[in-house]
Amino acid sequence: MMSELSEPLENYLKEIYELEETKGQAKVVDLIEAFSISPGTISKALERLESLGFIDRSTKRIRLTEDGRKVAERLIRAHRLSERLLTDILEVDWIRAHELAHRLEHIWPEDVLEKMDRVLGNPATCPHGHPIPGRIQKEGIKGTTLDNVQPGEYRVVMIVKEREWILRAVEDLGLIPGKRVKVEGMEGRDVRVEVDGKGMKVPIEIAEQVVVSGIR
Ligand SMILES: [Zn+2]
Repeated sequence: MMSELSEPLENYLKEIYELEETKGQAKVVDLIEAFSISPGTISKALERLESLGFIDRSTKRIRLTEDGRKVAERLIRAHRLSERLLTDILEVDWIRAHELAHRLEHIWPEDVLEKMDRVLGNPATCPHGHPIPGRIQKEGIKGTTLDNVQPGEYRVVMIVKEREWILRAVEDLGLIPGKRVKVEGMEGRDVRVEVDGKGMKVPIEIAEQVVVSGIR
């Protein structure tokens, strides 16, 4: 069932969910930055979401209520499955897939999403490595960003922010989810790595967007 919320309000709920997922909490300043909107606009939107019972602001933080979480999870699942459909079946590149999914996430009825999930083989994550709600255990993705690990062998698990310049850079470097990477150490402000037997330097602003986990 589609919720009765407007698309912008749905997007705020989704952003709050994703901020909780990546930063542990959502703050008003993060929302203002994410949507490039005025404090007045966001406070009106938050008032509306609170009156509808989707968020709780009784503490200093913005927190999703159970209903708010449900709406956000449905949207995020639709977004990440749409991306999978676009990349895995339609062979659209992962930058466009992310952009198109922002529109598609609002349109799929639940039964069509179920079918999509089945056709895609019940994927655990989106192409960028973000977990599809309900599929991965509550603790979420385990790993550390590339700028924070000791030298050793790792595997790429997730690209933190799905921004075009970041996705383009990690793709050029071959640092896509699933890829093995050997970390050699820091060199100035770059991380020296080896991917597919090729040595390269990863600028720090890219390294902090690449989550890796150790290979045992
Ligand atoms: Zn994605």
